[in-house]
Amino acid sequence: MRYDLVAIGGGFSGLISACRASELGATALVLEQSSLERYPCSSRFTTGVANIMGIGIMSPPDELFASIMRGGGANADQLIARALADHGARAVNWLAAHGARFINRALQKDQPGQRVLAPPRRLQAGLDWEGRGGDVLLRTLEEFLVQRGGKLLRGATAKNLIMKNGACAGVEIDHDSASKMVEAGAVIIADGGFAANPEMIAKYITARADRLFPRVGPGAKGDGIRMAEQAGAAIGGLGEFYGHVHHRVAMTNPKQWPYPHLDAIAEVTLLIGPDGRRFTDEGLGGVCMANAIARLPDPLSAHLILDADAWNAEPKYSLTVACNPSMVDNGGPLTTAASIEALSSLISVPTAALADTIAMHNACVARRDFSASPVARSVGKHAPLPILTPPFHAVPLSVGITGTMGGVVINADAQALDSSGNPIRGLYAVGSTVAGLEGGPLAGYVGGLSKSFVLGLLAGEHIAANR
Ligand SMILES: Cc1cc2nc3c(=O)[nH]c(=O)nc-3n(C[C@H](O)[C@H](O)[C@H](O)COP(=O)(O)OP(=O)(O)OC[C@H]3O[C@@H](n4cnc5c(N)ncnc54)[C@H](O)[C@@H]3O)c2cc1C
Repeated sequence: MRYDLVAIGGGFSGLISACRASELGATALVLEQSSLERYPCSSRFTTGVANIMGIGIMSPPDELFASIMRGGGANADQLIARALADHGARAVNWLAAHGARFINRALQKDQPGQRVLAPPRRLQAGLDWEGRGGDVLLRTLEEFLVQRGGKLLRGATAKNLIMKNGACAGVEIDHDSASKMVEAGAVIIADGGFAANPEMIAKYITARADRLFPRVGPGAKGDGIRMAEQAGAAIGGLGEFYGHVHHRVAMTNPKQWPYPHLDAIAEVTLLIGPDGRRFTDEGLGGVCMANAIARLPDPLSAHLILDADAWNAEPKYSLTVACNPSMVDNGGPLTTAASIEALSSLISVPTAALADTIAMHNACVARRDFSASPVARSVGKHAPLPILTPPFHAVPLSVGITGTMGGVVINADAQALDSSGNPIRGLYAVGSTVAGLEGGPLAGYVGGLSKSFVLGLLAGEHIAANR
């Protein structure tokens, strides 16, 4: 059988594009490599906060557009940013009309309501997806697709795109231990990026990929980017990632991810490298800090430094699962000492350098002016805290990659483009595998859900209209 649309990947991006196209009369098939009924993927693990560059997705489009252009810098394409900003609310409303449940929740002090998929996570340590918003929405979308005559085929791994006369005409898949050809009017790459592929992380992000951990499902192997590139698509915007700062034990302890993470407390305290010195602007937030740690010669060599007052106040800063006490209760201990000298020797960093770093930090905090600091420091949502009250604590850090930024270069209809900027007929890319929205020096993160909701919807509509 030939389908109007074949999506590679059974996450929100693939399912939404297939559901929307089938609603508009197209025939649709979604390929999912996992054979599990409730296959693991980011869409199932998600916390479910629908935002665009940290702003609620229902905010005025001009505000959303400006924040994408600011956050994504040179990586942000005006037309794709405009599409995301203009269609964010419509995508949420379309999902709600098709069975998705959202609640309004203020997750940040300075933000009014955010749409969060319901039921929300219970905000406890470790993965918590069963019966939560992402899990429920995936099943809701699959049911809708089947009602419209479409299908989600599990255990079907896309291997190569079939190209004819410069157009994409289908996919070669492995299914039931056999190689098969699936013909399609259009193929959508919706495979979720490459956060679980150490070779690609080493190629595009940091040579020390083995010193980061995937804060994501196992399926994000970057197959889509490889296939698109082989088909002549342009690839771009790679280099940064969306991730968080965690206790080092998260490398091996599943109770330490996706929560608790240390972003919020790190934003108001101090990160140091193995030389006892600051190396990044903590005030730029968790995604920036995670990218800076990943680029250290050894991404497992950084520590968070804080005092007793900051640790006691930690739950006040945390937006999700408080590290105090959840991190410690789940096997992520603090290193604690009565003096900075004793702390430096426990974590093996030079005493004089650490004392110097803390003295400079405290002086800047007292003056509310960081211009004297050798490493810039912006003041984020909260003012930085001094490090004065013993006992002093250190947390050994690691970084979890939740999603990669960049990938297939697309236009505002989610069509893949070749190196001359022309659409490749029949080839689309959506969700976590596209370029044109985020990254750059600030590692601006546009929001995984908005990319999958909006681009999925737009791709489905474009394919249905151009069958
Ligand atoms: C813990 C966690 C929390 C998050 N919280 C938020 C949040 O609050 N807000 C937000 O905006 N974003 C959040 N995100 C990100 C967001 O959930 C994702 O960006 C989004 O769900 C990605 O959807 P997707 O369809 O592009 O990819 P996915 O959901 O990852 O789906 C891709 C699918 O493709 C399949 N696949 C891969 N290769 C192949 C192949 N060759 N053949 C067939 N199938 C293949 C994979 O198995 C996978 O099932 C979070 C992510 C995680 C992991």
